[in-house]
Amino acid sequence: MPYFGVHESIAGGFHQAVSRAAANGFDTVQIFSKNSNQWRGAPISDEAADAFASALEQTGLTSPLIHDSYLINLASPKSDLLEKSIAAFADELQRAERLGITSVVTHPGSYTTSSEQEGIGTIVRALDTILASSPKSVTVLLETTAGQGTNLGCRFEHLAEMISGCSYNDRLGVCFDTCHVFASGYDFSTQSAYEATMAEFDRVIGIDRLKAFHLNDSVRENASRIDRHAHIGYGKIGREPFGFIVTDPRFAETPMYLETPKGTTEIDSQQLDWDVVNLRTLRSLAENK
Ligand SMILES: [Zn+2]
Repeated sequence: MPYFGVHESIAGGFHQAVSRAAANGFDTVQIFSKNSNQWRGAPISDEAADAFASALEQTGLTSPLIHDSYLINLASPKSDLLEKSIAAFADELQRAERLGITSVVTHPGSYTTSSEQEGIGTIVRALDTILASSPKSVTVLLETTAGQGTNLGCRFEHLAEMISGCSYNDRLGVCFDTCHVFASGYDFSTQSAYEATMAEFDRVIGIDRLKAFHLNDSVRENASRIDRHAHIGYGKIGREPFGFIVTDPRFAETPMYLETPKGTTEIDSQQLDWDVVNLRTLRSLAENK
């Protein structure tokens, strides 16, 4: 069975995110390394790093993942914003190493007033600069995007170009977000459509690059290019297609993280945490029920 994880807040410390994920029955966790709407975070103290490491050890959670700050735009045509983004992303990789985390996932960027091709070129140069002097233990996962506005990464070809252009591409992988891939226009609503989309991913990028999934249903329809996450089985993707992914033997050891809305719901007159409900759905699909 794949490793199921969940995005958790780091309120109260990094170790609290681990505890919260473990308490809800998850195998792994995704976190921000600092407030996601700030450029700079306080340095990570030895105590904080130690508490995080011992929480992982105590709970047995593996493959923790960092999601980078939403402010970062490695495709920006504005030199001041690009410089800030490069510095902030390099810092994310340092923070990952400090926490013993081996992957950082990022939305590749938005080209805003430039063009798709210029944006991809800017990302490649930014990644080269960042990876030249970053901890070699940390891999960057470029996330598939919904293609909202001028977001790059909504076509597999965008990610393939970024990877092939980068001089350090042995440290690049891909995170496949189901909501984003669906909203960007790829179909995986039936087993055969799923196989075709994965075959295309393999042909364009290479399936070995697929290192993590974000499992989210989509509020909006296929090809809407609108990024709105829904609970598993409660959106336009529906329950069944998640079964194709979680039973695919190629991904039996791939971490898969929920980024679905937080909160509780009433099922059979019981108040349940949505994360617990979504995890149950995924586990039952993985067991083919
Ligand atoms: Zn995502």
